[in-house]
Amino acid sequence: MFDKLPISAKTEKILTKSLDETISVEEANHLMSIQGSDLYPLLATADYLRNEIVGDNVTFINNCNINFTNICTVRCGFCAFGKDADDPEAYILNDDEILAKAEGAVENGAHEFCVMGGVLPDADIEYYEHLLQLLKGQYPDVMIHGFSPTMISDACALSGIDIAEGFQRLKDAGLDTLPGTAAEILTDRSRELICPEKVSVAEWVDIVKTAHEVGIPASATIMYGHVETLAERVEHIDIIRKIQEETHGFTEFIPMTFMHEYSPIFLEGQSNLGATGTEDLKLYAVSRLMLRDLIPNIQVSWVKMGYRFAQVSLTAGANDLGGTLGGDELSEASGAPDGVNASINTLSRIVKNLGRNPIERNSKYTEFYPIE
Ligand code: SF4
Repeated sequence: MFDKLPISAKTEKILTKSLDETISVEEANHLMSIQGSDLYPLLATADYLRNEIVGDNVTFINNCNINFTNICTVRCGFCAFGKDADDPEAYILNDDEILAKAEGAVENGAHEFCVMGGVLPDADIEYYEHLLQLLKGQYPDVMIHGFSPTMISDACALSGIDIAEGFQRLKDAGLDTLPGTAAEILTDRSRELICPEKVSVAEWVDIVKTAHEVGIPASATIMYGHVETLAERVEHIDIIRKIQEETHGFTEFIPMTFMHEYSPIFLEGQSNLGATGTEDLKLYAVSRLMLRDLIPNIQVSWVKMGYRFAQVSLTAGANDLGGTLGGDELSEASGAPDGVNASINTLSRIVKNLGRNPIERNSKYTEFYPIE
């Protein structure tokens, strides 16, 4: 495959191996740092594996973000969305406002409510149960992808229950899947710099594994391009890989490139400018080579990259375009380049233009809806 390409012997050896088996952390570190003419063979290999594992379908979900509050006690250094409770822009949606957002989404054919927000100081498990029962009471057929490991950890502590009981109660109240957010970069060194108040690496792993044990599938995310090293990106993917080998509870892996423009740590001169385009592509490609069919779905975030680069990233090992979103205020606050609402037609167009097949899906990748 590589005999006509100007490629280094080491990269060729690793890519040839990756056609049949997963790559080691050391091999992934090499691929994450390649430059020049080794890049396109890496991308081609990841795209080849994507086709072998999931074929030419590119999935996405018709969903709606319901950001129920922007008040947050955690105040991560990278986040332009969270506010203090006394900030003039702080808000908490009431039940009527939440249902109004849900109603609009359902009229547009939404299959999922993505319920996210800041970490409220007094939100116990009953608070989140109420949000779930409110939405499921009106829309029992719409899946709820909601909350974060940090929210669940705080809520369980406030309610005096352990994490497993908390997840069981949320599942009983209607939680379908857990966003694997708050992962950011799973090394304590980087977390100390960007989100010292968030759950630690060990706590994040424990919370996500508990969700899987209770029967709540989760997405896995990585937010990269701020203060972490290339080796930490690989370390993160390896942690996700090891959890999945144990639980098989992740539905998808979602690389989220750092949006620096309005981020406090960038404005204070404490972070990088974000990843470059080839770094983004390498992250997708190395993820595919490390995760293979263990996590078959690798998602491109069009809201963070814009439609054009999201389309290009689908050629680097990815096979999912996320959701139509219908309002993602966290990304909007960070400067989403193409806005935060996509139509089915817009996402279908960039997929068809690649010669691949757009397919709508549900939150768990268990139901698929044809697109005319
Ligand atoms: S990323 Fe989430 S937890 Fe962190 S400050 Fe923003 S809203 Fe709060």
